[in-house]
Parts: sequence; C-alpha cells; structure tokens
Amino acid sequence: MTERLPYDDRDWKPPEHDVTAQLGLVKFKPDDTAHLEIKDHQVCREHCRRKFCTSSCPAQVYRWEEEEKSISIAFEGCLECGTCRSGGCPYDNVTMRYPRGGFGVQYRFG
Ligand code: SF4
Ligand code: SF4
Repeated sequence: MTERLPYDDRDWKPPEHDVTAQLGLVKFKPDDTAHLEIKDHQVCREHCRRKFCTSSCPAQVYRWEEEEKSISIAFEGCLECGTCRSGGCPYDNVTMRYPRGGFGVQYRFG
C-alpha cells in the first residue's frame, strides 16, 4: 500500500442537515452492477478516522459497518453528484463511474 500523509481533520465537524424527506421524492432505476467502489478498504480502516464519505454524500449511500470494519455502499440511491470523487473522500479512495445509460437516478429535466 502506498504511504499516505495524515489528513488534518482537527477542525472538521459533520454537516448538520437532514434531507431524508427530499430523498424520498427522488426516483431511481438501479443498474445491476455497482458504479461506486472503495479502492482500498485498508485506507478506510487505518487512515480515515472521520469516515468523511458518510457525511459528505448527500444521498447517504456510504455507511461504516462496525462489525465488518468496512464501508458499505448502497449505490442504488446515488444522486450522481460527483462529490465522492471531488473532495468528499479526502483520501481519493472512491472510484465513481456513471451507471449505464437509462439507469441510475431519474432526473425529470436531465
Ligand atoms: S472518506 Fe474515503 S477513506 Fe474515508 S472511509 Fe470514506 S471512502 Fe474510506
Ligand atoms: S456521486 Fe454523490 S450521491 Fe453518489 S455516492 Fe458520490 S457523493 Fe453520494
């Protein structure tokens, strides 16, 4: 595994917002294969104390599973906003592609 600089998270606080009600209005057509992947679970376990993805993702698809000591991804609910590959994970430890055409989040005007 490549060596990583410790991320300075001393002043970081999780954002305070609850978008559960709004998320309930979004429609999805889930693909049968995941378009999101953790590159290296060891980085999550050993380097990332705050598990930033669990609060930076607006759709709350990332969850820390204490028993398995790993992040689970409910990719079916992804809003395809791109946050997790542009700063949402400070360790650049998420691979995000887009679902196949016609699958994924169903935006009304796009
Ligand atoms: S923010 Fe990145 S490194 Fe941290 S738990 Fe999530 S995916 Fe893993
Ligand atoms: S693209 Fe956006 S909604 Fe999808 S997993 Fe990444 S942060 Fe969450």
